[in-house]
Amino acid sequence: MNEFKHFINGAYVASASGKTFENRCPVDNSLIGQVHEAGREEVDQAVNAAKAALKGPWGKMTQADRTAMLNRVAERINERFDEFLEAECRDTGKPYSIASHIDIPRGAANFKAFSETLANHPTEAFKLDTPDGLGALNVGQRTPKGVIAVISPWNLPLLLMTFKVGPALACGNTVVVKPSEETPATTTLLGEVMNECGVPPGVFNVIHGFGPNSAGEFLTTHPLVNAITFTGETRTGEAIMKAASVGLRNISMELGGKNPAIVFADCDLEKAVEGTMRSAFVNCGQVCLGTERVYVERPVYDAFLKRMKEQVAKLKLGRPEDPAANFGPLVSLEHRNKVKYYYDLAVEEGATVEIGGGIPDMGEEMNAGAWIEPTIWTGLSDDARVIREEIFGPCCHIRPFDTEDEAIQLANDTEYGLAAAIWTENSSRAIRVAEQIEAGLVWVNSWFLRDLRTAFGGAKQSGIGREGGVHGLEFYTELKNICIKL
Ligand code: NAD
Repeated sequence: MNEFKHFINGAYVASASGKTFENRCPVDNSLIGQVHEAGREEVDQAVNAAKAALKGPWGKMTQADRTAMLNRVAERINERFDEFLEAECRDTGKPYSIASHIDIPRGAANFKAFSETLANHPTEAFKLDTPDGLGALNVGQRTPKGVIAVISPWNLPLLLMTFKVGPALACGNTVVVKPSEETPATTTLLGEVMNECGVPPGVFNVIHGFGPNSAGEFLTTHPLVNAITFTGETRTGEAIMKAASVGLRNISMELGGKNPAIVFADCDLEKAVEGTMRSAFVNCGQVCLGTERVYVERPVYDAFLKRMKEQVAKLKLGRPEDPAANFGPLVSLEHRNKVKYYYDLAVEEGATVEIGGGIPDMGEEMNAGAWIEPTIWTGLSDDARVIREEIFGPCCHIRPFDTEDEAIQLANDTEYGLAAAIWTENSSRAIRVAEQIEAGLVWVNSWFLRDLRTAFGGAKQSGIGREGGVHGLEFYTELKNICIKL
């Protein structure tokens, strides 16, 4: 049985209150650990440790030394790969075959990529002409913002948390992380790695707990937190934005999505099917960038739907360690209840269930877990709730369209704007359509092909701000202009 404590000032500490909550594995709902729940006291300790560390050796370190240290963190995660993999898969139930390709390597890469990108970014300088002819030199200086609160979700726990912690530390900040209550393991383990790599105490802190009236709220309302970076649901983002307004703290928000895919008749159908299968079903559909609405040009609609159903039927549900499994359970029974609610709602709203729609029989032990069938619907109207609300499960609705304009209008008919995928072999059309899609990320003939140097974030209700590459500099640093009269 694991015991997950907070990681504060370089040491693991229990909650003073002794309060803990259960950590269960979604594969069979078995109890795998007890997690300490932070009260105001632990949150205060963590934030104060982070504040103090800004003035310690970390604050005096050169950019080159910091980069080397963060590269070492990336290497150490890779050296302890199997431990991270096992911890992540136990918490989430996801197949090793997926986490070993995405979660853990990308979790490590976030430390290397951002420290190198940010270290190599040039400083801004402008020479200003002045009446005396001597001029003035303007030099931009970037300084760390201070203590950054990092609040992360459960779907890609290590990857999404390090996507924030990597650039935050690369810019010289210190962090207090609150991982999702569902997935405390890899964030806790990262504390050990920080110590092994010589990261000074107080630079990386972890507190566990829930959102409202718990660690999340205590952290986001703490007056010594300088900025808050959050990944999670849009409604939670609204609550955090309110908390951040006190003291006018900066925020960065990566929120929900209801992402469309547009499949044109001139696409490579096999590639479109393969890509849409991944975008709708990988990680049991629990990917913010995942596709839940698929629009297919009428001449290839029947063929596309048929191929998708054939591929869904081949998905292999199984335990994380089963090498043949490519489909795990949802993260928790609570989330399964939410997804199943939408499965039932789809039927009420008049959907044709093309495949799936229920809870699979996984055998005695696993039937206690959070399993759900991968599902395809057709026939829903464009204003159905299943079409408009984020489900965050392994499901998509497929609908035909007749013209390019119609496809664009349908894709944009949502309050969200995170990601979209376009499938066509006509590059002029690809660019024309991509330019009109209201989203932060558009993929053409691919999905989730990520270059960490590029901007990441959502439009509309899918987020505020951009991170990734040098874009993180805007959030994680203060840009000071120093004007020197010559
Ligand atoms: P969630 O919003 O329920 O929780 C995210 C985190 O916020 C958790 O750590 C939770 O404890 C904390 N939290 C909840 N209420 C809080 C409060 N009032 N104050 C402070 N913290 C609080 O999200 P989730 O269910 O863990 O994750 C799924 C959601 O995340 C989906 O909507 C998905 O689209 C979104 N997501 C977005 C991206 C992106 O990059 N845009 C990436 C992954 C997930």
